[in-house]
Amino acid sequence: MQVAFDRLHDAAERQPYPSLDWRCTRLRALQQVLVAYRERLADAVAADYGSRSRDETYIADILPVVNAIKDTVKHLPRWVKPSRRPVQRMFRPAAAKVVYQPLGVVGIIVPWNYPIQLALSPLVGALAAGNRALLKLSEHTPRTNGVLEQLLREVFSDDEVAVIHGGVPVAEAFTRLPFDHLVFTGSTSVGRKVMAAAAENLTPVTLELGGKSPAIVDHDAPMGSTAEHIIFGKTLNAGQTCIAPDYVLCREERVDELLAAMRKAAKRMYRRIDKNPDYTAIINDRHYRRLRSMLDEARERGAELIALHPDEEGLVPQRKLPLHLVLDSPNDTRVMQEEIFGPILPIVPVSDLDAALREVRKRPRPLALYYFGLDNQVQERVLQESHAGGVCINNTLFHIAQDSLPFGGIGDSGMGHYHGREGFMSLSKQKGVYIQRRPNPSRLVYPPYGRLIHKL
Ligand code: NAD
Repeated sequence: MQVAFDRLHDAAERQPYPSLDWRCTRLRALQQVLVAYRERLADAVAADYGSRSRDETYIADILPVVNAIKDTVKHLPRWVKPSRRPVQRMFRPAAAKVVYQPLGVVGIIVPWNYPIQLALSPLVGALAAGNRALLKLSEHTPRTNGVLEQLLREVFSDDEVAVIHGGVPVAEAFTRLPFDHLVFTGSTSVGRKVMAAAAENLTPVTLELGGKSPAIVDHDAPMGSTAEHIIFGKTLNAGQTCIAPDYVLCREERVDELLAAMRKAAKRMYRRIDKNPDYTAIINDRHYRRLRSMLDEARERGAELIALHPDEEGLVPQRKLPLHLVLDSPNDTRVMQEEIFGPILPIVPVSDLDAALREVRKRPRPLALYYFGLDNQVQERVLQESHAGGVCINNTLFHIAQDSLPFGGIGDSGMGHYHGREGFMSLSKQKGVYIQRRPNPSRLVYPPYGRLIHKL
């Protein structure tokens, strides 16, 4: 690992400012191999999961990276341009500008849930900003990692991009390397450890973490499409999505209507769960048992569980867990306290929007917030009176697919941003520069100061 890091570091020292052309050529080549490898990647992710919808791999793992590359290549010539700034009158004649300089070597730590997107999207930002990168892939996706490494080798030399495999001890050693920036995507608890380790080197971090993202269903939400959007957001990748709606805050007088609409939407999207190529499995036995035990605990504590495919309850092999709605689960149960990260959706009745916003504010700041309701002023109020990494109004998930928007958490759901221009900025040094044509001491502000005071 140290050898791989040193190689990247030395290359960054030798070529500290890769040209715009170098960056765009590499990005376009990455796009090409990604498309060429799409079948192999879909096979590998499916093998890692036991069963992963191929379409979900295309839509949610490969396409976002392809779109990010296209958007970056289009806008990069503008992003890299120095930004001219005005100069205070007393310091003239002179000019000022901000230049965007590559940082050097960026470390990228990747989780298992979107193993392609969450490795390559940060890489796109790192390369766009002119950096080298070392990736630590997830120990839970060995087959995908193998294909990813192969495709990266087709585009990059090992002094441009390198890959490390391994579990927790490797990951811990990785975070101790003196990176110029570290992008970590994973759980909040591990994020804390990453930040602590990075602090030893004063390495800046971008932390893309998780949490409980609420969906608020207001009195005027059109229920059929609202239910469909929430079910889609919750069942994509079987709920193993950092921005999946984690729980629903629904106006109490509309809960029955919501349940009926969700039943309908779930049946429309997935006629069956078993042998359905569109429905993804839970990544491994540990997570499957974790989700089952969350359901058991909620049931034992008096919650009502509603399986949306009741005829298949308990029958589905291959760790496929049908979507369960959970009603009346006490607030101290795990489904109400922990990030669920699977196809389980608690529904919490609320008297009005104030009560919903109070509920959101009581909890750590979430990665996403979804609001369903038609009144523009109320939508504005929700934006102003709640904190979240990102928001969709009348939909779920789609904010992450907008390359024009920054993506990142707040509080327990993370810090810093990537995607688009903000991603480029995060991984560049924004260096302020003051330029005089020639040395020309500004006698006005040098001692003796006596005269200065009269000029202010
Ligand atoms: P995880 O935190 O267990 O692991 C993520 C990565 O960190 C893995 O590569 C792992 O090897 C590494 N790691 C483990 N221990 C480490 C340590 N002590 N120091 C440094 N690295 C360590 O997360 P996971 O189970 O792979 O992924 C699920 C979590 O990721 C969920 O909480 C989810 O919300 C979050 N997530 C967030 C985003 C986002 O964009 N904000 C996206 C996807 C997933």
